[in-house]
Amino acid sequence: MPWFKKDPPAEGPEPRKVRTEGLWIKCDGCRQIIWKKDLEANLQVCPKCGHHFKVEARTRLAHLFDGGAWTELDAELATSDPLEFIDQKPYQQRLEATKAATGLNDAIITAEGMLEGRPVIVCAMEYRFIGGSMGCVVGEKITRAIERAIETRRPVLIVSASGGARMMEGAVSLMQMAKISCALMRLDEAKIPYISILTDPTTGGVTASYAMLGDLNVAEPKALIGFAGPRVIEQTIRQKLPQGFQRSEFLLQHGMLDAVVPRTELKAWIARALEFFAG
Ligand SMILES: [Zn+2]
Repeated sequence: MPWFKKDPPAEGPEPRKVRTEGLWIKCDGCRQIIWKKDLEANLQVCPKCGHHFKVEARTRLAHLFDGGAWTELDAELATSDPLEFIDQKPYQQRLEATKAATGLNDAIITAEGMLEGRPVIVCAMEYRFIGGSMGCVVGEKITRAIERAIETRRPVLIVSASGGARMMEGAVSLMQMAKISCALMRLDEAKIPYISILTDPTTGGVTASYAMLGDLNVAEPKALIGFAGPRVIEQTIRQKLPQGFQRSEFLLQHGMLDAVVPRTELKAWIARALEFFAG
């Protein structure tokens, strides 16, 4: 038997095709075809099985802020490629391509606006920007957002979606973990609440710093949350890992999270939490 297959001979005219691409999407959870408008109306959660699709930073802000209105902070900040790093291609080139594709300068949008009538500052990570990796710009923007929150006494929400620290910025990216953690300590001393929202995926240095430092750490259902990947852990501890390891529900069961909240209920849940903090 040959390991390849020949294309079948062409027969007659091509069947008539109806152009539907762009209108429908296949759900990764239940494999059913969903109308994109239905998906959007349900905040990018499958109406059939509840699968949570990944959400872009802008969409996330539109979900959280009242009337989808916010004022962006520090939009102009961009990295300078401090190590002149080259992997498969120069970091500079990778940045240019990603900026063009996303319309963003880096992997986060920080913004202020209202959430159910309460002024808040929200930092939303953009996974499409080099895997939502945390480099000096993500670190600086979050730190500035926290400092602004201290000045204006507004609660802070950080929505994480990240593969961790940005390797192309080496130690500079790792330093952001300490920098943001210090800013969060000052926020805590000022008695201003911080809610960390962990979405799929939240891993590496982001999990090891601000994503787990919230007064409340809340995750979306079935999000991958961890530090190292499962293969690395299995090789290190020489044990098979349990089913569902590193998913939101498992972490909640083991005391690593305060709640797992579906996206459709998230805004109301946050509003209730903020009211509790304010009281
Ligand atoms: Zn589905």
